[in-house]
Amino acid sequence: MEAVLVVGGNRGDVGRTTALVAELLERRAGAITARSKIYRSAAWGFRADDFYNCAFVVETTLEAEALLDTLQDIERLAGRDREAEQAEKRRTGERYASRTADIDIIFYGDEVIDTPRLTVPHPLFRQRMFVLEPLCEIIPDKADPASGRSVRELYNELKGSNKGSNR
Ligand code: AMP
Repeated sequence: MEAVLVVGGNRGDVGRTTALVAELLERRAGAITARSKIYRSAAWGFRADDFYNCAFVVETTLEAEALLDTLQDIERLAGRDREAEQAEKRRTGERYASRTADIDIIFYGDEVIDTPRLTVPHPLFRQRMFVLEPLCEIIPDKADPASGRSVRELYNELKGSNKGSNR
């Protein structure tokens, strides 16, 4: 199955973290068949250091939930500490916290998945420039199986809607 992932982080050396994530994806999830540049953007939904995001297409034999388990292992190996994030959220009162690496499943083939652990296509990707911009670089013609619109259309719509920056 062709899975489309977006990796993002704003703590530590995100270029190095992304390289480590790529290596672990190859080893644990499957071959990377496309990857975008790394894009920098302002934090979305909270005040924090800028984020760096990168999209990957991975050819995987893992089922969707097994892929999610693997991605959560990779986040940990790349230094993600969810307890520290919870503590930061309590301290700041924000909904989000800074992190070394977050990996979201944007698409899993053309499947539409809605389980307690997993919503695919990712529920917020259509509102997030930091997702649509790297996706538009590598898979502009891919159709969102939920809306039927292409990544390029979704990107152009968000760009034109004035919410286009990062919020
Ligand atoms: P976060 O703390 O932002 O990394 O959110 C992770 C949680 O979102 C996990 O507990 C997942 O079960 C859930 N989740 C739901 N849909 C997705 C998705 N498409 N990709 C990644 N995580 C997801």
